[in-house]
Amino acid sequence: MDMPLTVAQALQQAIQAGLPRAEAQYLLQAVLKCGRSWLISHDTDPLTPAQLERFQDWLVKRLDEVPLAYLVGEKEFFGLRLAVTPDTLIPRPDTEVLVQWALERLAGLTAPRVVDMGTGSGAIALAIAAQRPDAAVHMVDASAGALKVAVGNAERLGLPVQAHLGSWFEPLSGQPPFDLIVSNPPYVAGNDEHLRALRHEPRSALTPEGNGLSDLGHLTQHAPALLVPGGWLLLEHGWDQAESVASLLHERGFGDVSLRRDLGGQPRVTGGCWAGARRADGR
Ligand code: GLN
Repeated sequence: MDMPLTVAQALQQAIQAGLPRAEAQYLLQAVLKCGRSWLISHDTDPLTPAQLERFQDWLVKRLDEVPLAYLVGEKEFFGLRLAVTPDTLIPRPDTEVLVQWALERLAGLTAPRVVDMGTGSGAIALAIAAQRPDAAVHMVDASAGALKVAVGNAERLGLPVQAHLGSWFEPLSGQPPFDLIVSNPPYVAGNDEHLRALRHEPRSALTPEGNGLSDLGHLTQHAPALLVPGGWLLLEHGWDQAESVASLLHERGFGDVSLRRDLGGQPRVTGGCWAGARRADGR
């Protein structure tokens, strides 16, 4: 039988095992369901056996690079507290740039129609819905597990968003056109070495395999059928894909093609406006 450990001893154990102090404190706060100041002022409190077991389980997983968000089961995005599971990608702060741009596009519209393609935890759709209560926000995902998480988040936050299960535009047939289509699709190239570090996240949400451009291409190709004239398509992409995405948009007949950079200054979101006119070759 292990001796009960105090808060300070558990922290020390985690730090000695290789965890940064801030992460050890964050996990311990989640185990004890307490805030930072409580933790700091209760150094000598013992952990219950159940708390210690959970903390040590998380420690082992964290040392295997399981993201903190999966351990504690949530991640903050655009001021919203979202549940995440290994069925969903963990929302990244960089994606807030896409939300900002989406909100700017919607600024002049009343009761706009918006759809988030490949919504995962629902991060983009719910951030937009929270900022624009008048918008009709839809979210699509091909993963039933992910869509369940997104719907749970919408319910917990009290945000009325419509969920559709299926591959890209398939479940939207019969929908009236949208003012705005947004997506953070899988775009990492199949042989990108970063996938190793991201191995605990769903691979199908990170990469379409190949050069990473196939889903971005699919979305660009099919979005016009569901956009109102003057509607916008905004796509998140990899730091080195901006030119390829801009070409896809130009070739499909989008105008006003432009780029936004992420918080680290990298090209991250490219968008274009669908004027409604077809090209002379009928595409
Ligand atoms: N931005 C994520 C990453 O590289 C990838 C997200 C995605 O593929 N949509 O960590």
